[in-house]
Amino acid sequence: MLTDLDALIPLGRRGLIQTTNIISTLLIATLAAIKIMILGFESLPIPAFFVVTVGLVNWIYIRRHGSIDVAAWILMMSALFGLAFSSFYTGGFNAPVVLLAPIIPIMTVILINKRAAWISLGLVCLILAGVFVLGLYGYVPKNQTNPDLMLFGRYIVLTSLCLISTWVISSFASISRTLMAQLETQSNIDFLTGILNRRAIEARLLLEVGRARRSDTWLSFIMADVDFFKLYNDTNGHLAGDNCLKDIAKLIDGCCERATDVVGRFGGEEFVLILPDTNNEGARRIAENLRKTLLAQNIPYGPQNTNPVTLTLGIVSAKGSTIDSVEKLIKDADAALYRGKDQGRNCVVGPEDVEYQVAI
Ligand code: GH3
Ligand code: MG
Ligand code: MG
Repeated sequence: MLTDLDALIPLGRRGLIQTTNIISTLLIATLAAIKIMILGFESLPIPAFFVVTVGLVNWIYIRRHGSIDVAAWILMMSALFGLAFSSFYTGGFNAPVVLLAPIIPIMTVILINKRAAWISLGLVCLILAGVFVLGLYGYVPKNQTNPDLMLFGRYIVLTSLCLISTWVISSFASISRTLMAQLETQSNIDFLTGILNRRAIEARLLLEVGRARRSDTWLSFIMADVDFFKLYNDTNGHLAGDNCLKDIAKLIDGCCERATDVVGRFGGEEFVLILPDTNNEGARRIAENLRKTLLAQNIPYGPQNTNPVTLTLGIVSAKGSTIDSVEKLIKDADAALYRGKDQGRNCVVGPEDVEYQVAI
C-alpha cells in the first residue's frame, strides 16, 4: 500500500478514484460519439458502450458511498476490458488504444496498491500478447475505420496519455512533498510530549546563539529536571509516568510568554527552555513561575510519598558576545541544575549563585 491518500492529497482517495472514473468515462464516450458521428449508428462500438455504462454505474456507486476499494477494482477491470476489446476491434496490436496500456498499472498503484498494480500489469501483458498473436494468425477483424479517424483517434489517445501521465506524476509529487513535510515535522517533535525533541532543540540553540552573537543581545537557557521521577514511575507505573511527563511538558509550554521562546524535551525527564532576548532576571522569573506552577498542581508520588512532584531548574544567561559555544551553554545549565539537586531540589539555580533556593 502506498500510504493513506486521504491524508495526503486534497482530493482524498475517494475523490481521486471518482475523478479518474469520470475522466476515463467521458474520454471513451467522446471517442465513441466521434466514431458514431463519422461512421453512423451502425458502427456503435459495443465495448465503448459497455465501458461507459460501467463508468456511470461506478460513478453512482461511489457517490452513494460504496466501498472505495471495490470502485477502484471495477475501474481497473473496466480499463482492462476496454483495452482488450477496443484494441481487438480497432486494429489489433496497432490500434491507438494500445498506447493507453501503460496507464493501467500506473493508475492502479496510486488508486489501489502495488500488488494490484503487478496483477494489472500481468493482465495487460496477457491481453497485449493475446491481441498480438491473434493478429498474426489473422483473427483480428479488419479495421473498418477510415485513415482520418485512425489519425484522430491516435491524436486523442496520445494527448490523453500525456495528460494522465502528467496528472499521475504531479499526484506523486504532491504525495512526496507532503511526506517530506511530515518527515521534517516528525523528526523534530518528541513523540511522547509533542514538544520539540533534542535534535530540534540543539539546532534551534545553534541558531539563537548565532543570532545573539550578531546582535550582542541576551540569551537565556534553562534546563529543568523532574525530581525523583524514578520514584514516580516505581510507584505509579511507567504509563502514569508518561502521562505525568506530558502534563509537565504542557505546563512548561504554557509558562513561556513570548512567541520566540522555545520549549523542548532534552531527554527522559529533562526539559529545556530557550529564551532569546531574555536576561538572567527574566529567565529567573519564568523558571520560578514554572517551579511554583508545577508545585501548585500538587501531583503526589503515591501512597508512600505524599510530597508533590517538583522541578529543579538550572539557568544560564549570557550576552551574545560572551557565549563561547552551544556545548558550553548546555554544560553550564547542566552544572547549575546539578547544584540545584545538591541543594535539595525544587529550586531555581543560576551559574553565579551560591544558593538560590525557595522553600516548598
Ligand atoms: P533526580 O531528582 O535526581 O533527578 O531523580 P530522578 O529519579 O528523577 O532521576 P533518575 O535519573 O534516577 O531517574 C530518571 C527517571 O526518569 C528514570 C526513568 O524511569 C524515568 N524516565 C525517563 N524517561 C521516561 C519516559 O519517557 N517515561 C517514563 N515514564 N519515565 C521516564
Ligand atoms: Mg530527575
Ligand atoms: Mg534526569
